[in-house]
Amino acid sequence: MTIEECQKLYDRVIGDLKKTIEEESFLELSIENKKISKFLNGYIYVVAEDDFSLSKINKFYIKRINSFIPKYTDETILFKFVSKDEMSSLMNTEEVSPTSLEKNLDDKYRPGNIDATYTFTNFVVGKSNKFAYTFAMQTAENPGKNFNPLYIFGGVGIGKTHLMQAIGNYILDKDIHKKVLYVEAKEFCDDYIHACNSQIEKQRKIDEFHQRYRDIDILLVDDIQILCGKDKTQEEFFTLFNFLINRNKQIVITCDRPANALEGMADRLKSRFDQGLVVDITPPDLDLRTDILKKKIKTFSSKNDLPDDVLEFIASSFTSNIRELEGALNRVMYYSVFNDSPITLDLAKEALATLIKSQKNANKYANNSQVYENIQSVVAAYYNISVNDLISSKRSAKITLPRHIAMFLIKDLYDLPYKKIGSLFGGRDHTTVMSAVEKIENDLKSDEELKMAVDNIKKKLNI
Ligand code: ADP
Ligand code: MG
Repeated sequence: MTIEECQKLYDRVIGDLKKTIEEESFLELSIENKKISKFLNGYIYVVAEDDFSLSKINKFYIKRINSFIPKYTDETILFKFVSKDEMSSLMNTEEVSPTSLEKNLDDKYRPGNIDATYTFTNFVVGKSNKFAYTFAMQTAENPGKNFNPLYIFGGVGIGKTHLMQAIGNYILDKDIHKKVLYVEAKEFCDDYIHACNSQIEKQRKIDEFHQRYRDIDILLVDDIQILCGKDKTQEEFFTLFNFLINRNKQIVITCDRPANALEGMADRLKSRFDQGLVVDITPPDLDLRTDILKKKIKTFSSKNDLPDDVLEFIASSFTSNIRELEGALNRVMYYSVFNDSPITLDLAKEALATLIKSQKNANKYANNSQVYENIQSVVAAYYNISVNDLISSKRSAKITLPRHIAMFLIKDLYDLPYKKIGSLFGGRDHTTVMSAVEKIENDLKSDEELKMAVDNIKKKLNI
C-alpha cells in the first residue's frame, strides 16, 4: 500500500467514525485531516495531537476505528496512533519482512483482548518495577527464547496487568500476524467448565477450547491464583502449559504472590512456574508515584499541570496501589471541573477527604503486625536506639521522642485504636498513647526539625 492509499483509507475510516459518535467527542480527539506518517509491517502510523487525545483514542476508539477497515480493503492492516516521540524513534525502523501481507487477520487474537493503552511507553519505571520491566521487555523482544514462563508477581494495582499487556502490544507491533492471547485465569477456568458441562456436542466444544488455547504464539495468563483449589482446571492448564512450552511458545503469568505461596495449587504446576524467570513488583515509592501522576495528568488535557503541593499531597496519601492513585487524580480533576475552580491544595484535600478516610480504614483491616514492627524498627534505627528500648518503659528523652513518633506514625498511617497501639509498646495505657500522638501532631505544626525527621522516616518506610 502506498502512503497515498493509506491516507485515503484513513480519511474514509475517520469519516465513518465521525458519523458514529457525538460531534463534541469527535472534535476532542483532533483526529481529522491528519497526515499519515508511516506504513510499516501492516500498521499505518498516525501521530496523535497530544497525550490527551492519544490516550482517549487508544482507550475508547481504536477498536472502532480499525473495525471500519475491512469495508475498504481485505489486507491485514491496522491503524496505530502514537506520540511524536514514539514516531521519531520509529522513523528509522525498517520493514521486517517485505513479503506480501497475508489477508484477513484473525482478530480473535488482537483487538479483542489486548488493550492498546497498556504499553511499555506508558509504563513509568522506578525502583520497584525496574527489574520486572527489564525482563518483560526482553521477553517481548525475544518471545519463547529466554525466559519461559515469565512469572510476574506482586500486590494489587501495581502494574502487573499493564506490564503483561505491554508485552502483548510490543510483540504485535513488531509482527501483526503473531497470535497473542491474553486471558484472565478466571476466564480460562469458565471457558473450560463451560466446554465440559455442555450437554450437546461436548467433544466438539472441548476441541474448540483446545483449538482456542493451543493455536497461539504467546499466551498471557493474568491472576493465576484464581486456579487455586480448582483441580480439574489445573490439570487442563498443566497440559496446555507443557504443550506450549514444548513448542517454544512464550507464556507469561501474573499472580498476587510467589508460586510457592499458592495454597491449593498442584506442586507440579508450582515448580513449572518457577522454571523460567520469576520477577516481582513491589509497592511504588514516592518518586515513582510522583512520576506516574505527572505522566497521567497529561492525559487529561494538554494544558494541565498539577501544582507541586497538590502532586505531593496525592502522591503521599495513596501509597501502595497505583489504581487508587489514578482514581485520586481523576477525582481531583473532576472536582475541579465540576466546581469550576482551579486545582489547589485545599481543593484536592476536600476532593479526597472521604477517599483518604476510607483508605485508612482499609489499612486498618490489613492489620498486619509486621507492618507495625517495621515502623518500630525503622524509627529505632533512625534514632540509633534498639527496638527493645523503644518499647520499654525507659523515660529518657533520647528514647521517648522516637517512641512518640512511632506511635504517631502507626496511628496516622493505620488508624489503629489507641489501646492496640499501647499493646505494641509494652502494654501502655491508651491515654498515654493518645497524648503522645497529640503531642507529635501539635509539634509538627511548628517544629521544622521534627517535621523533617518524620518525613525522612516516611521515606525510609517507602511511604
Ligand atoms: P495489577 O494488575 O497489578 O493489579 P494494573 O496493571 O491493572 O495492576 O495497574 C493498575 C493501574 O495502574 C492501571 O491503570 C495501570 O495502567 C496503572 N499503572 C500501574 N503501574 C504503572 C506504571 N509503572 N506506570 C504507569 N501506570 C501504571
Ligand atoms: Mg491485574
